[in-house]
Amino acid sequence: CCGAPAAENGRILMVTEATFPPYEFRDGNAILGIDPEIMREVAQRTGRELVIEDMSFDSVITAVVSGKADVAASGITVTPERRRKVDFSIPYVEAAQVIIVPKGSPIRKREDIRGKRIGVQHGATGDIYVTRNIQQPERFPNGALAVAAVAAGKVDAAVIDQDPATMYVAGNDRLEILPEPLTSESYAIAVRKGDTALLQDINGTIAALKASGKLEEIRNAYAAM
Ligand code: GLN
Repeated sequence: CCGAPAAENGRILMVTEATFPPYEFRDGNAILGIDPEIMREVAQRTGRELVIEDMSFDSVITAVVSGKADVAASGITVTPERRRKVDFSIPYVEAAQVIIVPKGSPIRKREDIRGKRIGVQHGATGDIYVTRNIQQPERFPNGALAVAAVAAGKVDAAVIDQDPATMYVAGNDRLEILPEPLTSESYAIAVRKGDTALLQDINGTIAALKASGKLEEIRNAYAAM
């Protein structure tokens, strides 16, 4: 389809799903967050321009595979299925799936959600976990809508990633997160299979940001927003 990958033309095209704070969110026309910060650092260190495009989460990996984009940076959990399609950077965050319920819900732990209406984000690891280990969930286009469904009483619980869950629940005092996480996961950035030059640039940047403490600083800054 597309000739030379964009990253070779002085530009890195990153795709993301921008309703996933603190990793990515919209602020007016800008897309901000931890993933844009990491990728901006990659672009800067390699003298390229970063362009960010917002799309549904279940399309970001396909966009990289098809050559439409260079990088998917979207709080993506490394899974064996995804590893078959793309190459992943070294991990930059340890993450988890958590259960969100209305305060006072009889659901107190993992076993309690069986037989209840469970909201997830379509194609996300929460969806994969619930479908495999519990039952068919109700699927929403993003985590924010799954949480809104809990708040509206349309589902009994939502299973989404811990950090966005914390931010959504901070904005709604009728919801709570159950203390026991369901999974332990790693976030990494995806590139086209065999795009080793770009992968090395990303890995070098993540390693440097970790070593200098800057990654921790970026996480803390966005988590406090
Ligand atoms: N970490 C989850 C996954 O990879 C959700 C990511 C997201 O919604 N941006 O499936």
